[in-house]
Amino acid sequence: MKTSARQEQGRRSESAEGNAVLAGLLGELGSSIDRLLGQAGHSHLGERSRTYTWGLVVLRAIHSLEPSVLEPTLDPRAPLGHSCPDLDALVGLEPGGSLEILEELADLGLLQRQLFNLIHACPQCQKGLVNLRQVCPACSSIDLSVERVLHHFACAWMGLESEFTHGFTLRCPKCKLELHQLGQDFERPNETYVCNDCSHTCEDPALEAQCLSCGSIAPSSDLELVRIHSYRPTQLAARAIELGRLTGLDLAELMVDADLKLDARDFLVLEARREVARLARHGGVLSAARLWFETDGQPYEIFRRWSNLDRSQLGGVLASLRAPLDLVARMDACSLGVLLPGADASGAEVVRQRLFAALGELQLCAESGRPLRPGWQVATWSDPSTSAAEVLSFLGLEAPSE
Ligand SMILES: [Zn+2]
Ligand SMILES: [Zn+2]
Ligand SMILES: [Zn+2]
Repeated sequence: MKTSARQEQGRRSESAEGNAVLAGLLGELGSSIDRLLGQAGHSHLGERSRTYTWGLVVLRAIHSLEPSVLEPTLDPRAPLGHSCPDLDALVGLEPGGSLEILEELADLGLLQRQLFNLIHACPQCQKGLVNLRQVCPACSSIDLSVERVLHHFACAWMGLESEFTHGFTLRCPKCKLELHQLGQDFERPNETYVCNDCSHTCEDPALEAQCLSCGSIAPSSDLELVRIHSYRPTQLAARAIELGRLTGLDLAELMVDADLKLDARDFLVLEARREVARLARHGGVLSAARLWFETDGQPYEIFRRWSNLDRSQLGGVLASLRAPLDLVARMDACSLGVLLPGADASGAEVVRQRLFAALGELQLCAESGRPLRPGWQVATWSDPSTSAAEVLSFLGLEAPSE
């Protein structure tokens, strides 16, 4: 399907208008986010939360557009030739850098993708600066010329026109007869490529891809086809925006359980969805566990019965044990959910042992003085078709419908 120049022009000015609106919104939101992130006490949120925060900013900005769709623009500076310049500038990324944030938001089910363009990318460096060129299939030389082929009827010889040419006369290189009349003595059935280095002739030269960025050379069939998308917020986005009101501490509350100094449950849910999407796209493994406490074989409502001080001490111990990408959040009055991206069953077992050793040292007790024993249930997923609902229901959470 071809788009006429006029339509292209129309689309471009429409998206330019959208971008101007976006720039205004982003400027506004960006400064409030800067203030928020600049507040003391939030530096512990770390890099992951920072990306997450920007995700919310971007999401809210797109949601406010009318119509609420974000289209990338052509940009020769971007690795894949497309960028959202205002988003890139706002988030402080190189041209095209914010496309990754948009893809992550789409993985989370917050944005709906629409195919915008297809880009051939270098299989080595994944950049779209690729030069396609015809080469000799025998010696890979790029020095090819096109020549006409002559067919001599009398002796049936077929060869390059240059082999027949002697000054102004044409003489057959095989039978040495002179050729006079096109159509009577000979015909020119086709043209052919001739390699000026090895003289190989062929009708279909090979197509080779040269990466102008990393210099690698590959057959064009090895190029990766990358889909560039435009994005539209989903129903789920409206909910995320609602939860993430961009004022005061509300955003931090969304990510951090201030009471326990652990991750917030909503944040764990979003991260679980993100990890499941990553599993589908890149493979790998993901484990999750439930941790609870029992006294005399009965689950103990530790988060209801313990004092704030005791709870935050427990939270502090759990937080200090967790690896940078792990998430620990309170699921209900009795239990905690643990998300262990990249951990297989034995990796999860190492986490359990470390955790139980630390909890053993705390010598936790119920009000009655009876000892509290930790309980642990773990599951591991490596099937790319794993759904977020499976992981969330294991953790005892209901997955929000999309
Ligand atoms: Zn050649
Ligand atoms: Zn001949
Ligand atoms: Zn490359």
